[in-house]
Amino acid sequence: MADRLKTVLLFGAPGAGKGTQGTLLGSIPGYFHMSTGDMFRSLDKKSELGEVFYEYSSKGELVPDEVTLELWHTYVHAQAILGMYKPYSDLLILDGIPRTVAQTTLMEQYINVLGVVHLSAANPAEMITRLQNRALEQNRVDDAKEEVIRNRLAIYERETRPVLNHYDPSIVHEIDAIGTLGGVLSDVLRVVAPIQATCYADPAKV
Ligand code: ADP
Repeated sequence: MADRLKTVLLFGAPGAGKGTQGTLLGSIPGYFHMSTGDMFRSLDKKSELGEVFYEYSSKGELVPDEVTLELWHTYVHAQAILGMYKPYSDLLILDGIPRTVAQTTLMEQYINVLGVVHLSAANPAEMITRLQNRALEQNRVDDAKEEVIRNRLAIYERETRPVLNHYDPSIVHEIDAIGTLGGVLSDVLRVVAPIQATCYADPAKV
């Protein structure tokens, strides 16, 4: 793989819309979207790692850092070998990682963070409603119960928000998460498109 992977982080509380915006971005040539939530959910539930994931996520807790990092690294490497992710032409869009300060430090050897998109909402009640709707649509155990959601939001404040302080404020971009899909996407693209264009050739011309 390339030396350190050129990366933009999608950052924000559960329900902020990281996955939705990441999927939209990932459909555009030149971007590779990788979500750790999707990575964990794709594990066989009966496998050892699948059981570890269920044990933590069903309580709204984070999977331990070492397990998460090892799986993340294997996953990204596999995507690169399979040609799904092309480190020499795709900007990596990470959604859901790093989620603790320890993960941030462990990942430094692998990724070069060129931008952080912080999706946030002035009104957290909106996020809880989004999570509950998602629970119904996607059958997610971690979103179904209000107490689990509250635990996830508390863990976000305690463990994940401090990750933002790790990055130079000049690369952290605040984006209002409340709006139409297209409206938020246009704000996200205003941040990431110039980064992509600076790092890589125009995918339409290669
Ligand atoms: P959301 O989008 O609601 O924030 P995710 O789909 O990203 O949730 O993650 C679902 C669950 O997967 C988390 O609650 C956690 O248990 C686990 N998980 C995802 N990413 C990480 C990570 N970087 N470190 C530890 N656990 C993680």
